[in-house]
Amino acid sequence: MSLKGKTAIITGATSGIGYAIAETLASNNCNVVINGFAELHELANIVGYLSSLGDGKAVHCASDLTKLDDIQSLIQFTQDSFGGADILVNNAGMQHVAPIEDFSVENWDKVIALDLSACFHLIRLTLPFMRTKGWGRIVNIASAHGLVASVNKIGYVTAKHGLVGMTKVVGLETAQENITCNAICPGWVLTPLVKKQIEERAKVGNITVEQASAELLAEKQPSGAFVKPEAIGELVLFLTTEAAAQMTGTSLSIDGGWVAR
Ligand code: NAD
Repeated sequence: MSLKGKTAIITGATSGIGYAIAETLASNNCNVVINGFAELHELANIVGYLSSLGDGKAVHCASDLTKLDDIQSLIQFTQDSFGGADILVNNAGMQHVAPIEDFSVENWDKVIALDLSACFHLIRLTLPFMRTKGWGRIVNIASAHGLVASVNKIGYVTAKHGLVGMTKVVGLETAQENITCNAICPGWVLTPLVKKQIEERAKVGNITVEQASAELLAEKQPSGAFVKPEAIGELVLFLTTEAAAQMTGTSLSIDGGWVAR
């Protein structure tokens, strides 16, 4: 399959799931505009590597997506580089873990800004180009936590449930325009975001990282295995195909059975 001539914005693509999505789309000849934080030399390596994967070009834009000005710069940068984005993958996200009374207002604002509001802004700002082209694919990386809750994750669970709702509204508003909007709801994927939680759990429980990792999986994910980031890349790729043209406004779980119980 070839996405030659198409351009994707993938937010938070310097690490974890976003990086794997960028790899998959770039391997299928898509131009990729990646965003996210990393050291300058790492960024150069990532952009060089992604550009080498197919016929498309990879570029990086250093935007902090908690800031509206930076979001607008990312859109402008994409327009200047490639004319606009045919595919938008809202992937950047952060987590903060604390009971509601200890959940600082600052952390609440940050999680909502990145995991929810940035997705709203990026969708509203990319839609005009997709409408002009008469084709578009929007994929929101939500979470199993967009469908069910856990304790101590008030910001994340609220944002991800909101993102699933946003996906439905955008799916409806674009239903007759050859534009689709879907959410992917992963269970545990072993990325820096989750490694941090495992290390914290090991520290608090005075157990090894391996034990903490096994506990984390046993608690939520019936398969007992982590979801591979590459599998999420393949799912995003599928959503860009003609076979998925009638899939919109929906949420796709890839979670080892997490939300089935
Ligand atoms: P990660 O921490 O490995 O990567 C996060 C990316 O977002 C990085 O590229 C980082 O630089 C970027 N980022 C962070 N703050 C940013 C900001 N203010 N502006 C722009 N970019 C910023 O995380 P991940 O595990 O790969 O998670 C990616 C997405 O998948 C998130 O939305 C997360 O909620 C979701 N998710 C992850 C898991 C999991 O188990 N890892 C499960 C379900 C959903």
